[in-house]
Amino acid sequence: MGDALELGRRPFVRERTVDETGKALNACPGASLMHDFDVEDPAINKELVDGWGPVLDVWEGYSTDGEIRNGGSSGGAATTLALFGLEQKGYAGILHIAAREDHAYLNETVMSKSRAEATARTGSRYAPASPCDGLDMIVQEEAPSAFIGKPCDVAAVQKARKSDPELDSKIGITIAFFCAGAPSLKGNLELLKKMGVKDPEKLKSLRYRGNGWPGMWTATYLDETGQEKSAQMTYAESWGFLQKYRQWRCYICPDHTGEFADISVGDPWYRPIEEGEPGKSLIVARTEKGRQYILEAAEAGYILLENHDASLFPRSQPNLLGTRGSVWARLLMLRLFGAAIPKYTGFKMAKFWWSYLGLNEKRSSITGTVRRIFRKRLNRRIKVERWTPPM
Ligand SMILES: Cc1cc2nc3c(=O)[nH]c(=O)nc-3n(C[C@H](O)[C@H](O)[C@H](O)COP(=O)(O)OP(=O)(O)OC[C@H]3O[C@@H](n4cnc5c(N)ncnc54)[C@H](O)[C@@H]3O)c2cc1C
Repeated sequence: MGDALELGRRPFVRERTVDETGKALNACPGASLMHDFDVEDPAINKELVDGWGPVLDVWEGYSTDGEIRNGGSSGGAATTLALFGLEQKGYAGILHIAAREDHAYLNETVMSKSRAEATARTGSRYAPASPCDGLDMIVQEEAPSAFIGKPCDVAAVQKARKSDPELDSKIGITIAFFCAGAPSLKGNLELLKKMGVKDPEKLKSLRYRGNGWPGMWTATYLDETGQEKSAQMTYAESWGFLQKYRQWRCYICPDHTGEFADISVGDPWYRPIEEGEPGKSLIVARTEKGRQYILEAAEAGYILLENHDASLFPRSQPNLLGTRGSVWARLLMLRLFGAAIPKYTGFKMAKFWWSYLGLNEKRSSITGTVRRIFRKRLNRRIKVERWTPPM
């Protein structure tokens, strides 16, 4: 996997030394995605299933480790739950994402094997990342591991493990975080420039949020005279800038909340956050395995669960039902204008377009897509070029 400046992480064929198997394409949720959970399962919340996928239980909660809670994007739930597996269930590691040490504006896939490593790697990184490129690290271990990633990362793992029994046996638990889309490297470089970081190679660290809730976008860098400087903006301002640079696949994503994971976590935005309030996470059990795991982690004192209430989920992310509806119209327009589209099976989308969107939103889901098809050349083959940072 490599970086394509305006798109995100993309596969680049190094050399054709082996026959193509098509395994990676088969696992790619950008090509196809299918829900195959049992809709009749009485444990699944019937009111939420059409809009939010399988939901067994919902809590608000946070890590009992103050450092993880503070450093985490919301309440440190993703990190603390994975750590429970590592420390208490004999997991070999946690496969997830960290900033690269040599180029802090880029991400890399890492296997954390200690509390210290996992704690240092908390926090959302609103830049391209491809944790599935580290699945071989999971397979090489004797024991299972935890996997943390975006909804699409987790969906890819779930697809890959279906045709790979060895991988399947090494996935201990999958944790996805809610995701409105991943901004490109170009967007991130533009933001650094706007904030006065003239040379991204002089960047010492880059955090997007955390260290408070939701926390600040903070870049630490050396200026032309070699002096250490820091630039900051609020999380909301940084997202306001970066979200324009999301790749197209994120605009036609049917799963922003980790519907294929055992556990998904997000921000409980159902209420305004008070100044200085410590972070909290929304924690969703998506499978029975996930639910048991969360309860065991709580019992073992890793996570504190409060507000056991399924309605927190739709109240926290009210816009996402409209997004689901818009995806239906976007896919329709893409097909009409000859663009390639992913094959989605088992997602209810059309009903939210009809019932949830206002007239203007309906209109813009159609006209906006048609505009983008031509502006972004979505119905043309494009050459994807690999971008590499200076050595
Ligand atoms: C691109 C992006 C979009 C998001 N959109 C939403 C949204 O729409 N709604 C919402 O509620 N929250 C969104 N979030 C935030 C996310 O939901 C919170 O991070 C989540 O609440 C988890 O917080 P936590 O404190 O439990 O995680 P933490 O304990 O801080 O752990 C975060 C974990 O995520 C991993 N990670 C960080 N960046 C990436 C990445 N780019 N790709 C893969 N893994 C990564 C880290 O390695 C770490 O293991 C987004 C985050 C990202 C990166």
